[in-house]
Amino acid sequence: MLEEFNYSPRISRKVRAINEDNVERGSLGKFHKYLDLMFEDGKRKCFYCGDVIQDTHLSVDHVIPWSYIFFDDLLNMVYCHKGENSKKSNRLPAEEDILRLENRNMKLLERMENKSRKYDQLQIAIEKDYVR
Ligand SMILES: [Zn+2]
Repeated sequence: MLEEFNYSPRISRKVRAINEDNVERGSLGKFHKYLDLMFEDGKRKCFYCGDVIQDTHLSVDHVIPWSYIFFDDLLNMVYCHKGENSKKSNRLPAEEDILRLENRNMKLLERMENKSRKYDQLQIAIEKDYVR
């Protein structure tokens, strides 16, 4: 019923998660193969400061904090320097970061093979403005 009236992705799962203390947080390593598509020269750059990230400082971050949305989705995942994500804590991102995330998602979609589930999910997320 919730999902009929609220188009926020997977709303029922989020509501359920709030009522459960043991929300599972999966590994974010599975996003590397998609996020790497943004860096053709193999040099991964930080979403926030733009500098190249050495492997030992690499971290995958939720631009919109996980505590707001309770899911790991490519549309919200970026590379950043370790520590930079704990600094920004659970605050909602600035408008500028939201805009950059939306642009990143469009570029990422162009670079993905268009025959995968992740591609379809990202395309729907862009069409339906899930980041907003
Ligand atoms: Zn950085």
